[in-house]
Amino acid sequence: MQPPQPGQPQKMALPGVKHIIAVASGKGGVGKSTVSANLALALHMHGHRVGLMDADIYGPSVPIMFGLGLVDQRTTPFPVLKHGIKLMSMGFLVDPNQAVIWRGPKVAQAVMSFLAQVDWGVLDYLVIDLPPGTGDAQLTLTQSAPLTGAVVVTTPQDVSLIDARKGLRMFNEVRVPVLGIVENMSYFVGDDGKRYEIFRSGGGQKLADEAGVPMLGELPIDPRVAECGDSGEPIVKRYSESPIAAAYLKLAKVV
Ligand code: ADP
Repeated sequence: MQPPQPGQPQKMALPGVKHIIAVASGKGGVGKSTVSANLALALHMHGHRVGLMDADIYGPSVPIMFGLGLVDQRTTPFPVLKHGIKLMSMGFLVDPNQAVIWRGPKVAQAVMSFLAQVDWGVLDYLVIDLPPGTGDAQLTLTQSAPLTGAVVVTTPQDVSLIDARKGLRMFNEVRVPVLGIVENMSYFVGDDGKRYEIFRSGGGQKLADEAGVPMLGELPIDPRVAECGDSGEPIVKRYSESPIAAAYLKLAKVV
């Protein structure tokens, strides 16, 4: 793949793609990649044509979550199709054990080439799993991709909310609409059927109110999320009747 020429970011055209949704978080570990993958699958389960682009160059998670590894471009053209979703990730090109040590501009170029040079074809939704924070790749993408909007993932804890606010500011600055907040790990449903709020509650709602954007959904903690993430079949697909799958299917109706 050829990297695009460096220069001023321009809004590129992706005429075959109806909606491009960036999934962002202020910091790592809040479940942004998990939300991106499961949201993509939930959209597909509603009958949409869906792509998932992993823009996390340093820490790609799409290959593991979809049970894939390095891909030979000569035999498998990009994007790679799995569970009905068109996928692109740095993890298809570089062994995850070989750390990518690139400076910001090169990372931003790689991300843009995923968007511009991969033949996404006709899609109803392209979900972009952004790297955490507000670095080069995020800025380049938000400035040059024709994003429909961004979904900001947070957890109920204060530290996560402080970082999420920074993410919201970045989208405001680059004038990308924030579609809303998703609060992950909001609660846990015990064997007794009761709802336990492990990390306090209402943080996502507070952030949404503060920013004047919708609260799109609260996703429960489910220990099977990690197991599914490692097994190549995200929870929405593996346990499609679970309460968490229901929460994702509901989320996919409102993005
Ligand atoms: P990020 O992309 O924000 O760094 P990940 O999606 O990689 O976060 O999630 C971090 C860890 O938390 C992973 O091990 C994932 O399986 C786990 N996880 C994410 N969401 C949930 C959840 N709702 N319940 C239980 N574990 C979760």
